[in-house]
Amino acid sequence: MLASEKLGFETLKEKVIDAGRCCGCGACVAACPKSIIEMQDSVPTLVGEDIKCGLCTKSCPRMIEDYRPIYAEVFGDAQRDPALGVFLQAYALRNADEAVRKRAQDGGVVTGLLLHLLDTEQIEGAIVSGVNPERPWLPLPQVATTRKEILAASKSRYTRSANLVALAEAIKERKLKQLAVVGTPCHIQAVQRMRLAPLKRIDRSVVMTIGLFCSETFRFDDLMQQKIVGELGISLDKLRKLDIKGKLLVYPRGAKESLKVPLKDLAEWVEPSCHYCTDFASDFADISVGGAGTPSKWSTVLTRTKRGQALIEEVLAANKFLREEVTPEDLDMLRRIARPKVARQPH
Ligand SMILES: Cc1cc2nc3c(=O)[nH]c(=O)nc-3n(C[C@H](O)[C@H](O)[C@H](O)COP(=O)(O)OP(=O)(O)OC[C@H]3O[C@@H](n4cnc5c(N)ncnc54)[C@H](O)[C@@H]3O)c2cc1C
Repeated sequence: MLASEKLGFETLKEKVIDAGRCCGCGACVAACPKSIIEMQDSVPTLVGEDIKCGLCTKSCPRMIEDYRPIYAEVFGDAQRDPALGVFLQAYALRNADEAVRKRAQDGGVVTGLLLHLLDTEQIEGAIVSGVNPERPWLPLPQVATTRKEILAASKSRYTRSANLVALAEAIKERKLKQLAVVGTPCHIQAVQRMRLAPLKRIDRSVVMTIGLFCSETFRFDDLMQQKIVGELGISLDKLRKLDIKGKLLVYPRGAKESLKVPLKDLAEWVEPSCHYCTDFASDFADISVGGAGTPSKWSTVLTRTKRGQALIEEVLAANKFLREEVTPEDLDMLRRIARPKVARQPH
């Protein structure tokens, strides 16, 4: 595609949405200067006259086939690990506040970083995936501006969430100027694409991106309704936690042991758009966080940018996190997990 070419929503619809490649991140909604794209039933939908400004296509993480030029633009000639991207340091971290850690997915690192950024007034709000109060476990893109909201969004929902719709709300409606964005690789790729578009309001407002490791997401109706409610007989308001550690681990409230579901049983419920993803470790984030590579209740953390590195050093100096070493073997394990996505990268 030529840099000067202005493609409209029609192109996005044809090449991404109708082609089954849309990851539902909400970037097109956040990028649209006229606010004429809305998510309807998780699908980007045009609700006004298309001005063909090209920003929706330029921001979409599924509209680019080769990410190598973006790596070059963001990280210059820094050496890139093909599976894990460019990173400065790897850490195993755990939130020192056990109350925060206990409500979190792994080490409570993401929630801990957001709370620190809010408490030290480095952000006015965080773009997170919260929980829908009417439909338990249905992800709800949210602008969290209080400790309570950040804490309520902790834990992973393994179904997709249009987090960047909340970025649109934060910037366009609520006029917030300092934001952290949490997301899976597609969200973070989209933020990076918006920065380079260039969308100056996004570039100025997003002061930190925290990316999650991600192998895939699952369709809500299949994973949550059919498997958890239908087959396992657990109503969603009685579900405490889901985890993926080689298997899907299902923790009903009050139960000591998890129910275990082989991942092969879930294979056909993977969101089709995830099959186009080439990024496991949120390569374009300031900081990437995942559960793999470290023991249970810890998180593996990769710092990628100077500001990401500075934030981790700040929380460690403030004794907010416990730290262990990440070994070369731990990193090799991550590389093995990332392998299916790396195999899709253009060579
Ligand atoms: C869909 C998905 C797939 C993942 N796959 C892997 C994997 O294959 N390997 C691995 O090591 N780690 C994976 N993770 C990351 C892992 O589950 C934890 O999120 C990570 O280790 C951070 O743990 P924490 O305790 O620091 O997070 P917490 O402090 O509990 O914070 C979690 C944050 O995740 C955000 N979040 C929750 N659900 C979603 C969602 N659906 N979309 C976007 N953001 C969300 C919330 O906003 C919250 O701020 C995945 C996460 C998700 C959401």
